[in-house]
Amino acid sequence: MGRQTLTPLSKNVSGWYNDVVLQSGLADYGPAKGTMVFRPYGFALWEKVQEVFNKAIKKKGVENAYFPLFIPYSLLEKEADHVEGFSPELALVTIGGGKKLQEKLAVRPTSETIIYSMWKKWYQSWRDFPVLMNQWANIVRWEKRTYLFLRTTEFLWQEGHTAHTTEKEAKEMSLWALEEYRKLYEELFAVPGIVGIKSARERFAGAMETYSVELMMPNGKALQGATSHELGQNFSKAFDFTYQDKDGKSAYPWQTSWGLSTRSLGGLILTHGDDKGLRFPPMIAPIQVVIVPIIGDGDSKVTEYVEKIQDVLLKQDVRVKIDERDCSPGVKFNEWELRGVPLRLEVGPKEIVEKTVTWISREDGERGIFNVEDISDQVKQQLSMIQKQMLKRAHKSLMANTTEVNNYDEFKKKMKNSRGFLRAFWCEDKKCEENIKNETKATTRVRLLNEKKETGKCVYCGKKSSYRWNFALAY
Ligand SMILES: [Zn+2]
Repeated sequence: MGRQTLTPLSKNVSGWYNDVVLQSGLADYGPAKGTMVFRPYGFALWEKVQEVFNKAIKKKGVENAYFPLFIPYSLLEKEADHVEGFSPELALVTIGGGKKLQEKLAVRPTSETIIYSMWKKWYQSWRDFPVLMNQWANIVRWEKRTYLFLRTTEFLWQEGHTAHTTEKEAKEMSLWALEEYRKLYEELFAVPGIVGIKSARERFAGAMETYSVELMMPNGKALQGATSHELGQNFSKAFDFTYQDKDGKSAYPWQTSWGLSTRSLGGLILTHGDDKGLRFPPMIAPIQVVIVPIIGDGDSKVTEYVEKIQDVLLKQDVRVKIDERDCSPGVKFNEWELRGVPLRLEVGPKEIVEKTVTWISREDGERGIFNVEDISDQVKQQLSMIQKQMLKRAHKSLMANTTEVNNYDEFKKKMKNSRGFLRAFWCEDKKCEENIKNETKATTRVRLLNEKKETGKCVYCGKKSSYRWNFALAY
């Protein structure tokens, strides 16, 4: 580790990305095409996401459950748009226990159908609502190309599913989930995202409305960070999922579903990396502080000294590690920089005499001295400062990558060169959207939730338009 050369991010984003994910020990390719292995350092990131998001949903009254991996094909077929949308990526099981199955089984591409087929059995009175559930699961959607974290045939996610007695309540729920995703990205990942509504073309198969958090990557491409869907009564009708309302009449519930996957970790890696490797924000970093003893005179003294510091930090829940391996400090520095540890502490004979440690921030290379006396306060303060700096930098980059464009020539030129989010008027006609995609590869990402109504001309056809949309090349 740390010996291979890292493709510079500034020269080649995807080359850098593959190198850094493999060399830092986050993940590896699995033996079956399209699959990936989460190594412990990478899985720790997902565990942190689970910890933070579980806390948020439980506060809202959402409970975790688990539904089967295998879904009878007939269930998928019940919602016509849904099966049509997912069939190109389905993995189907046709043989089980050596025998041909009577009905083929889909390997979970998403769980609306299986969950609602069960809910229909369990919830039949208005008193049972709202139903608020989430599951952490693996998902299979067949992919031709593999891109670690970002595009793999099997990935991990959470999927929230809810059912309500009014449309208004369902809408509020899906917007609540969207806001939780935005906050998670901003507060845990130090990644600012834009939130908005998807066009009809980009909507989830079977949804009335899809909302998403969109992130801007350093190569000017947008990454869809998470989605939240208003399903209306599409699925409840397709599944004949009804309940008795207060007046004893039969009614269909209004539903939502929302998901965040391990793709998000790809966004985290890309947003913060630099030519030296990963840079993790302290809140999500599997290791927040690494202590590197610089062995000089009196080795055992150094060991004793750094272990004491580690104890104090561990007691304060700081994720800290001492690197005592028998290799040169320079090799260790490079490796921890590659692996993105936010704060490095160095201890040599000088520090012992002065009762200090030297600290170096991975974010900007800044260095300074902490007193050992109140080390945990100073470390925690520095980590929180780094977290803020990282969000600030990412926000600046998002702003720099967002441009208003007012004519199609400018649009094409920008999309070919600097890319980023291009904010342009669009008449919301599918034809224009389609043509823009064919000619520039750019798609509508979202119309911002708080986008103000204006009078403009569609960047493609010139027809009257009320809103600017954010266009970008999708990852
Ligand atoms: Zn148009």
